[in-house]
Amino acid sequence: ENHRHYSALGQVNAGGKLVPLGLKRKTLRILVTGGAGFVGSHLVDRLMQRGDSVIVVDNFFTGRKENLVHHYGNPRFELIRHDVVEPILLEVDQIYHLACPASPVHYKYNPVKTIKTNVMGTLNMLGLAKRVGARFLLTSTSEVYGDPLQHPQAETYWGNVNPIGVRSCYDEGKRTAETLSMDYHRGLGIEVRIARIFNTYGPRMCIDDGRVVSNFVAQALRKEPLTVYGDGKQTRSFQFVSDLVEGLMRLMEGDHVGPFNLGNPGEFTMLELAQVVQETIDSNARIEFRPNTEDDPHKRKPDITKAKELLGWQPIVSLRKGLPLMVEDFRQRIFGDQIRDST
Ligand code: NAD
Ligand code: UDP
Ligand code: UDP
Repeated sequence: ENHRHYSALGQVNAGGKLVPLGLKRKTLRILVTGGAGFVGSHLVDRLMQRGDSVIVVDNFFTGRKENLVHHYGNPRFELIRHDVVEPILLEVDQIYHLACPASPVHYKYNPVKTIKTNVMGTLNMLGLAKRVGARFLLTSTSEVYGDPLQHPQAETYWGNVNPIGVRSCYDEGKRTAETLSMDYHRGLGIEVRIARIFNTYGPRMCIDDGRVVSNFVAQALRKEPLTVYGDGKQTRSFQFVSDLVEGLMRLMEGDHVGPFNLGNPGEFTMLELAQVVQETIDSNARIEFRPNTEDDPHKRKPDITKAKELLGWQPIVSLRKGLPLMVEDFRQRIFGDQIRDST
């Protein structure tokens, strides 16, 4: 049975106890750090839909209140402006720890802050998990594999990361966050879960965050050329956000610490991605080549055997299916104001 929460006998709660059918599952109090961001807000939607109580902690560095405004006024929802680098006291059953800028443009903006967020922020949330006995899920990244020498990447691969490069604040920050999580788990018995997320896209991404999917989609809609960095032959594997959220929830509810790769194994070169964007939005969109950024990984593709076997999870939305779902949201956010202004 894939949904551990709902077996034939009853519902298994977060503590692993079986609640007989007929009795309602206890409402969980769930903290989502970074819940005003792209992935976090979609996760919050699912948790609210399930009937849980959700506290979002966010400093709004890259997150937006607009992503959560539909929950305002719901007594099960609370939004706290707070920076996870500072300690905080809350009483919760589960912690989804997402707070951290994810786009290279954002995390390179203030690299020392990015390290603090990953190290001190994660330490604080683990300290909180320890104090209240909550289960803690870390959203790590495929970046822990660096510029990988193994392809596709399995969780057993230790990675090839530059410790002193411009991406290190993020890569090494997340690696330290994983280390902290494992040491709180081994040494202090904290229940932890680690997800290694591969490139994810969907509605509510920041429009100008510099990531390739958001860039290409916004450029095609604005009739600007698609900017391909380098020769465009580097690859990434793109996952639609609803698949990721399903994977994160299964990981949290399941019995396995991980780490687990959560990503879509469909691998594309940046030129192929540009082509899919052309087919989806504007077949006349031009391509313009730009110099690539430093330390750019050459290829990235998840081996998801472990998540398939132990979480019963795999992505179901292909790039060609998922992209149109994001385009509508971008169209409204880019042109919405102009349409309103002109009427
Ligand atoms: P995002 O930038 O949209 O969301 C991050 C959220 O964290 C934002 O709301 C931001 O304001 C908040 N935040 C940042 N620093 C904070 C701090 N110090 N204190 C409190 N809040 C803070 O990014 P996302 O794409 O939603 O990513 C969410 C998580 O998933 C991140 O941890 C990221 O590293 C991880 N991840 C994402 C991807 C992806 O492709 N989207 C890939 C790998 C890993
Ligand atoms: N912490 C927090 N909220 C809590 C409990 C702890 O923010 O509810 C912070 C705490 O301030 C510390 C970190 O988490 O900086 C690690 O806490 P832990 O108790 O593990 O370590 P210690 O405080 O003993 O160094
Ligand atoms: N990229 C690109 N054009 C853009 C933005 C990015 O060709 O406008 C490339 C970038 O060089 C990298 C890939 O797309 O090879 C993915 O970049 P992104 O910043 O989206 O994610 P990450 O590098 O973190 O995987």
